[in-house]
Amino acid sequence: MSSELIDSSEASPEMIQRCGYVAIVGRPNVGKSTLLNHILGQKLSITSRKPQTTRHQVLGIKTTDDVQVIYVDTPGLHKRNEKALNRYMNRAASSAIKDVDLVVFVVEPNKWTDEDELVLTRVQNVSCPVVLAVNKVDTVDDKSTLLPFMQSVSEKYSFDEIVPLSALNSHNLETLEEQIHTRLPKSIHFFPEDQITNRSERFLAAEIVREKIMRQLGDELPYQVTVEIEEFRAEGRVTHIGAVILVERAGQKGIIIGQKGDRLRKIGTDARLDMERLFDCKIMLNLWVKVKGGWSDDERALRSLGYDDI
Ligand code: GDP
Ligand code: MG
Repeated sequence: MSSELIDSSEASPEMIQRCGYVAIVGRPNVGKSTLLNHILGQKLSITSRKPQTTRHQVLGIKTTDDVQVIYVDTPGLHKRNEKALNRYMNRAASSAIKDVDLVVFVVEPNKWTDEDELVLTRVQNVSCPVVLAVNKVDTVDDKSTLLPFMQSVSEKYSFDEIVPLSALNSHNLETLEEQIHTRLPKSIHFFPEDQITNRSERFLAAEIVREKIMRQLGDELPYQVTVEIEEFRAEGRVTHIGAVILVERAGQKGIIIGQKGDRLRKIGTDARLDMERLFDCKIMLNLWVKVKGGWSDDERALRSLGYDDI
């Protein structure tokens, strides 16, 4: 059916794609968010543009070569909630983690609290593999104490693997990722490879600006406006976005800028507020309007296919 599929399998017959959902669980403060952020290598904000087709809330997707790992949130699972525990005990499994393909259970070294025990009771009944991540090993001076600790936790549950690591220092994360990768089901990837890249963020940013222009100008602008994102740069807590609005004639430029720049300012403010909500961070947005003389045949062809945003 798909020649692409045949081509790629011929090109590398040994290539087996894997894909699956992974939940990172653990009591508060063990370093789950730190771990996720360091695995993903960037502060994650965008997940799927499409409505979720599963009940999972996607936190981040990481695609490396043949493996796509979809990290999901399991609301309630890692929070202390006795009632939830009771509910859970009555049922065979918690629906929140029932559907995932792997659970990463995060604990701190040389420490096993009631809350860890509580998380364990929830993890115990899942049918998927459970990998125990002993985080914050950088805080342990005498590393020889780690072995007896790992021994004692392995007696609590037969974890598929126990990986000591430091999320904060990105130490041994590759080992954890390897353990995850080899345990995910063979499957085609559910999301495009670039789902969580700047490209899709850029695309969304351009779409937002274009939407604001259309909303502001409505009938006054019965022609195509192209928005190009020239800058998309995270600097500390602020993401700097520079967008160029391309119009076809000088008169259209004036319309978009408006009286004393009022219109462009309003477009910018509205777009920035939407972006801050969507990207969950502070945004510095710079907008320019430029006149682009005519379209090349290639561009016209692309636009006719709907690729006029970027
Ligand atoms: P969460 O509640 O499980 O999501 O935990 P966070 O990721 O918010 O981390 C809680 C605290 O532990 C933060 O102050 C982190 O900086 C710290 N932390 C996380 N991972 C490590 C680590 O590997 N080593 C050390 N020393 N601190 C860490
Ligand atoms: Mg957290």
